Amino acid sequence: MSADDELSLLVIVVDTNPIWWGKRALAEAEFTLSKCLDAVMVLGNSHLFMNRTNRLAVIASHTQESRFLYPGKHWTFADLFGDGGSFVESNCSGSKDGKYELLTTINDAITEEIKDLMTKTDMRGQQTETLLAGSLAKALCYINKMSKEIKGNQEIKSRILVIKAAEDSALQYMNFMNVIFAAQKQSILIDACVLDSDSGLLQQACDITGGIYLKVLHMPSLLQYLLWVFLPDQEQRSQLVLPPPIHVDYRAACFCHRNLIEIGYVCSVCLSIFCNFSPICSTCETAFKISLPPVMKAKKKKLKLAV
Ligand SMILES: [Zn+2]
Ligand SMILES: [Zn+2]
Repeated sequence: MSADDELSLLVIVVDTNPIWWGKRALAEAEFTLSKCLDAVMVLGNSHLFMNRTNRLAVIASHTQESRFLYPGKHWTFADLFGDGGSFVESNCSGSKDGKYELLTTINDAITEEIKDLMTKTDMRGQQTETLLAGSLAKALCYINKMSKEIKGNQEIKSRILVIKAAEDSALQYMNFMNVIFAAQKQSILIDACVLDSDSGLLQQACDITGGIYLKVLHMPSLLQYLLWVFLPDQEQRSQLVLPPPIHVDYRAACFCHRNLIEIGYVCSVCLSIFCNFSPICSTCETAFKISLPPVMKAKKKKLKLAV
């Protein structure tokens, strides 16, 4: 198979949580959302430069919706896969600086969409968390759609890069794990570039799908990290010196309170996890007749004696 028969699709999911970015802008003006998006655009353009068969998609993960920044609703399949898309030709007045027209069009589209997203969302209600699990599901759907639409002799290799800003949401634990396992089944790599606090969910996602998890130590250098670690694909990575793998936080969230726990009770019927013993499983309503295991009582007694 020649290299032309293999498409490489990179889907970038950017956390655009307005609360996190707002706080960030107040704390230090050096690194803002627009700087972050600049870095994302350079990475996207570089990915498209690597090979003419490379494809790109960018999704904004917001607090109320997940939105495609590129390709938007107006792009057709022919624009993305045909030679010299009609959309590009009709919407691009030609590049003024000699830059490749497609890149100019993509960057303009991303800028317009993000402007629209940030100005038109009103912060109603208590929804302050980034809808990351939903954005990842959207990315998987897009990848699936693309792999269905390519020509017969072509193969598509896809990966997702998450640029994460805000805190993890334990409420999304179930959806998140389902998305991770769906990605693993389709052999889709998930990479994570974390700007702020570590994310246990993304650590697991990268570990399970074979991607790289990286916490950015110096945010203004985001672009260097992106080009160094996340531009090379899976095959090129084996030849590079990359950051060592991290210790993965494999704690699960209990289904009752969404707390992260190390030891808990698992329903033997539906595998739901609970932090406290309950005689009836709240997920599948199975009634358990057994009392607390006697081992626990014995242990407690021994401890008392030791004291
Ligand atoms: Zn609980
Ligand atoms: Zn159950």
